[in-house]
Amino acid sequence: MVAASPRTAAAPAARVIFLGPPGAGKGTQAAKLAAHLGVPRISTGDMLREAIARGTELGRKAAPIMEQGLLVPDDLLIALVRERIAQPDCRRGFVLDGFPRTLRQAQGLAMMGSEGPELVVFEVAVPKDELLRRLSGRRWCPTCQATYHVTNDPPGRPGVCDREGTALVQREDDREAVVSHRLRQYEEQMAPLIAHYRERARLHHVEGHRPVEAVFEDLRCLLEARE
Ligand code: ADP
Ligand code: AMP
Repeated sequence: MVAASPRTAAAPAARVIFLGPPGAGKGTQAAKLAAHLGVPRISTGDMLREAIARGTELGRKAAPIMEQGLLVPDDLLIALVRERIAQPDCRRGFVLDGFPRTLRQAQGLAMMGSEGPELVVFEVAVPKDELLRRLSGRRWCPTCQATYHVTNDPPGRPGVCDREGTALVQREDDREAVVSHRLRQYEEQMAPLIAHYRERARLHHVEGHRPVEAVFEDLRCLLEARE
């Protein structure tokens, strides 16, 4: 087997979008792929949680919405992403995790000039019972935003972040009552988004109900096949 190696500065630009329900493994795979490609991972969920932790105006607006599992208004998200992808570290590309989530956001991203032959969209599918199992066991480090799972991906010491030594917490929006809401919302928003990208990008359906490394291997091969 040929070992996967990080790309060099000469490698072509890659713009990657992850679509998929909460718990599909978007963040897990986006982090691995971004490291492999040598481009930043942009997680709008992480950016919003950071804004909440810092007590910024965006954070104050987003907090009550996120707690209920609702979507933060499109205009705020579009402005957030526009500013982020204008940063120099995004010049060679980026991996978007959690954005776009609505057709309006996808149209906003297109207006930023992000659609083109280098845009690849992965739609990660996982059965609902597995999503519920993943979300109920997901734990999160409030300091570095690393994600764990109590059984699938546990930290070295139960309940403690390997990197920061911080106590891990369950996300407010991973509580059972909020999760069903988020899953329903995903189902409502996704059809128009997928229709949008079917015409404008390389859209790949990925079976996410497999071990992390097996899913990653598929993503890597799909990306390499386009070159
Ligand atoms: P998303 O970003 O789509 O909401 P995450 O990447 O945060 O999903 O994954 C949700 C939970 O499932 C996390 O606790 C993670 O450790 C776990 N997980 C991710 N991918 C897999 C996988 N392929 N198999 C089993 N568990 C996984
Ligand atoms: P995530 O970390 O991607 O699961 O996102 C957590 C929460 O942040 C979502 O349930 C929304 O409330 C909010 N959020 C993240 N990304 C977006 C987005 N693109 N549009 C609207 N809300 C978002």
